[in-house]
Amino acid sequence: MTDPHDRTTVTEECAVCGATVPFGASVHVLVNPPDEETFDRYVCRSCYEAELEPLAE
Ligand SMILES: [Zn+2]
Repeated sequence: MTDPHDRTTVTEECAVCGATVPFGASVHVLVNPPDEETFDRYVCRSCYEAELEPLAE
């Protein structure tokens, strides 16, 4: 029996490339710059590494 709340069946849409990725393969990104809108999105791991990880350094 499949549990609809099982995290492994949940997907998120990547905010960068628009791909549907499994919850477990997505990265929650929460950025709250003082002068800009809060960025609270899920992105896929490859977009995270390409787009966001460099910014965090
Ligand atoms: Zn992506």
